[in-house]
Amino acid sequence: MLYINGEWTDSSKGTFQITNPATGELLGEVADGTREDTEKAIEAASEAFQAWSSLTAFQRSDYLYRVYELMIERKEHLAETMTKEQGKPIRASRNEVQYAADFLLWYAEEAKRVYGEVLPAPRGDQRFFVLRQPVGVVGAITPWNYPISMLTRKIAPALAAGCTIVLKPAEQTPLCAIETIKLFAEVGIPNGVVNLIPTTDPSEVGDELLTNQAVKKITFTGSTEVGKTLAEKAGSQVKRISMELGGHAPFIVFPDADPVHAAKGASLVKFLNTGQACISPNRIFVHKSIVDEFTATLVERVNRMKAGNGLEEGVSIGPLVDKQALEKVNRQVTDAKEKGAEAVVGGVRLDQEHLQNGYFYAPTVLTNVTTDMQIYREETFGPVAPIIPFENTEEVIAMANDTNYGLASYVYTNDMKTAFHMFEKLQFGIVGINDINPTAAAAPFGGMKESGLGREGGKEGILEYLETKLGGFSI
Ligand code: NAD
Repeated sequence: MLYINGEWTDSSKGTFQITNPATGELLGEVADGTREDTEKAIEAASEAFQAWSSLTAFQRSDYLYRVYELMIERKEHLAETMTKEQGKPIRASRNEVQYAADFLLWYAEEAKRVYGEVLPAPRGDQRFFVLRQPVGVVGAITPWNYPISMLTRKIAPALAAGCTIVLKPAEQTPLCAIETIKLFAEVGIPNGVVNLIPTTDPSEVGDELLTNQAVKKITFTGSTEVGKTLAEKAGSQVKRISMELGGHAPFIVFPDADPVHAAKGASLVKFLNTGQACISPNRIFVHKSIVDEFTATLVERVNRMKAGNGLEEGVSIGPLVDKQALEKVNRQVTDAKEKGAEAVVGGVRLDQEHLQNGYFYAPTVLTNVTTDMQIYREETFGPVAPIIPFENTEEVIAMANDTNYGLASYVYTNDMKTAFHMFEKLQFGIVGINDINPTAAAAPFGGMKESGLGREGGKEGILEYLETKLGGFSI
């Protein structure tokens, strides 16, 4: 179903099917939104904007708080929907629903902290005031890999700021989006404030969001490739944009770090969501003197991982989201092997009987990885850990920064000087020092270089939905 102006409606184009990537089972049918549906949703959001932005911050906060409470109450249902539709193990789905709810709570609070300013003016008879106002109707486009939290990370700050929103979820995960938007409907969010357009034609719906003059801001999470085309188009109307794009995270282990501890960290963060995370380590640089011990521990942990349907007990590796994802991983691993890499564990598709209807790839550790391999340059988005030995600090900084991406990075060291040096020199928006989970609703998340523009979460996240207006008064 589409959600437009407070009503669940069908699409003139009919429906599309959603299947479970672990089993191939049909999960449901969803209305296939069109350009006309998007236009209607934008109109509804424009009409709703006046009243929504005129509510007090306390009133908007109250709505968000109620959605937060409902999301926590429905955690199990939402997590099950996510595991079935996206494939991640149920425990990871529960964690994601909690993370998604955290944004609702955080921005229910931040709604009340949108402050203006009084500035010193150059003339005695002059007064300067700064006012922050909502940008207007927001067009949001989200990915499938975190199919609930990526929605609330946009909807919550937008609504808190006083904006209204039209959201297009990824075509692989519209059921998660529908279940999330139901919560807003249930708490009685005014008609038109939140609108949802699932579709199999992202460029048609996206194009309407980008070209409709009523949309004042585009917020996108997805690949750098798509992000660039959207940013270019948004530029013709100078629409405000926020871009959360791809990553190619380095994971650097210095010789003073404990290689066993670091390998445990690497195994947890690398294989999270089967490697389908923008902050997933893509290049694991380990000092030559400890690389053997590190690799042995990582391999040992990978050997204990169990792939399967995320609803089953003990499963830690879910399927990849679709056939293309599987082919991409396979292509990168084959290329690496042809150029001399060794798959010490994994390196193959998993197609035993209970897995053959899903898109499973074995968790993989590659050694002898060199700079001429595709995997060294491209985002993988799969369960492959490429290990590259290094000899000294400046060399590894240069290698880590030698990419157009700049989202997350990780460093293991016990030396404070090295820690600070790396924090300052790595050209990444997020640096985890002995920390594999440097994310939270309260923290600014986002990338440098081609990994994005703007930040989500934290006190920065709401600024993306606010205009700064200067008032100069002569008295
Ligand atoms: P994608 O770019 O293919 O799709 C993302 C969204 O864009 C989907 O909703 C898709 O339907 C839509 N889209 C695709 N083509 C479009 C077009 N022409 N016009 C309008 N919309 C269009 O990316 P994906 O494969 O769904 O997601 C994986 C990517 O997302 C990875 O690169 C990952 O790193 C990135 N990602 C980034 C973050 C972050 O916060 N930086 C978070 C999650 C995922």
